[in-house]
Amino acid sequence: MQQWPPVYDASYHPNPDQDYWFPEIETMDPEKREQTIILPKLQQQLAYAYENSAFYRKKWDAAGVNPKDIRSLDDFEAIPILKKEELREDQAAHVPFGSNLCVSYNELARVHGTSGTTGNPTVFGVSKGDIQRIAETHARVMWAMGIRPDDIVFIGSFFSLYWGSWGALLGTERLGATALPFGAGVPGQTDRAIEWMANVKPTVFYGTPSYSLYIAERARERGFDPARDFNFRILFFSGEPGAGVPSTRKRIEETYNAVCLDSGSTGEMSPWMTDGECSHRQGMHLWQDVVFAELVDPVTHKRVPYGEEGVTVYTHLERNSQPMIRFWAGDLSRWVSDTCSCGRTYPRFPQGIYGRADDMFIVRGENVYPSAIENVIRGIAGFSDEFRIIITREKTMDELIVQAEAMADVPAAQIPVLQKKLAEQLRAKGLRTIVQMMDTGSLERTEFKAKRIIDKRDLYDRITDKD
Ligand SMILES: [Zn+2]
Repeated sequence: MQQWPPVYDASYHPNPDQDYWFPEIETMDPEKREQTIILPKLQQQLAYAYENSAFYRKKWDAAGVNPKDIRSLDDFEAIPILKKEELREDQAAHVPFGSNLCVSYNELARVHGTSGTTGNPTVFGVSKGDIQRIAETHARVMWAMGIRPDDIVFIGSFFSLYWGSWGALLGTERLGATALPFGAGVPGQTDRAIEWMANVKPTVFYGTPSYSLYIAERARERGFDPARDFNFRILFFSGEPGAGVPSTRKRIEETYNAVCLDSGSTGEMSPWMTDGECSHRQGMHLWQDVVFAELVDPVTHKRVPYGEEGVTVYTHLERNSQPMIRFWAGDLSRWVSDTCSCGRTYPRFPQGIYGRADDMFIVRGENVYPSAIENVIRGIAGFSDEFRIIITREKTMDELIVQAEAMADVPAAQIPVLQKKLAEQLRAKGLRTIVQMMDTGSLERTEFKAKRIIDKRDLYDRITDKD
């Protein structure tokens, strides 16, 4: 039996010429990796959670499952799904960490959490050992992105309860690269970011896709060319699906003359970068020996075959503080199992994450993902990077309004042409929309995750109910 949880050698550094951090594990025959690494780790993680977490003991006893009966990955599908609301309810009943904190306060290193903008925040307690393992994993994934010790990594996102920035920082430090932990969100900080980028010339950027496009727009207004005046060769992202949306990726790559890479699962699952793309850009690898990702049927909760679409469910394999077991992240994707051209044998999401199942909306009975609309707008030259989607109701019919802006240098006479082009291309995707052209710069820009969907149908229902 391997030692669990694993302890990594912090003095280990691969040769910079080497493609892989852990060559053997990353390129192993997938079947062999499942049997000799993933399943044993999973069994130990389950036994540990059952032993140390009142939360899981109660949940699994009620479902009639016991970790000792899990002898295969198929058996594992009997373990019930864990939803975000259960964590919140448990934490409300057992303040502050809930009944699934498996370590003493002595062993805790950090408290993080969700922002709580859509309900009570969830509190994460992270142990000292977990911090080391998060650093190790993020370093390993960032190595696959092509980041090396001579890089300077500009972290352009909030340093707060939000995990993303801290995970990127831990990975940068463990890898041996130089961190530039710039942050975001302070008034005037975008302008200062531009000056630091032009002056220090960091080679790697981390943040959200929306923010990288906003920085570029602001830089151009101030006379900088992000491709010429900055020195980025890699931009990697999480927090939004944009880096996996083809036309957004193309825009970012052309804007910065650098490679755009997608990563990230969800804050509950830290290390969150275990969905992470390599430098070959063939979709995010699922680093299954650290966090076991399943793509499941939304009804049966069993894994769908490779090649098909399903919903993401994640399980920690080496977290001793607050393990998440079969956590329903609720993102929709498609997975494949063929070996990437980098030689890694992990399954992949070739089209990234389509979007959170929560973000999907239904208009006139059709499922619509905001990322599909994003892909159309960003694929048409002349549009700015910002847009809004407004869903409203006219009598009993849903109306989809897309608000977009032209770039500042588009002549006024061309604006109706752009408007018509966008409406036509959306109609070709089966979306009947009203396209509204807004003044350039009038739609709100974001330094974090963009809120681009406004659903006004509830309002309409409330008003008409009163009549
Ligand atoms: Zn690869």
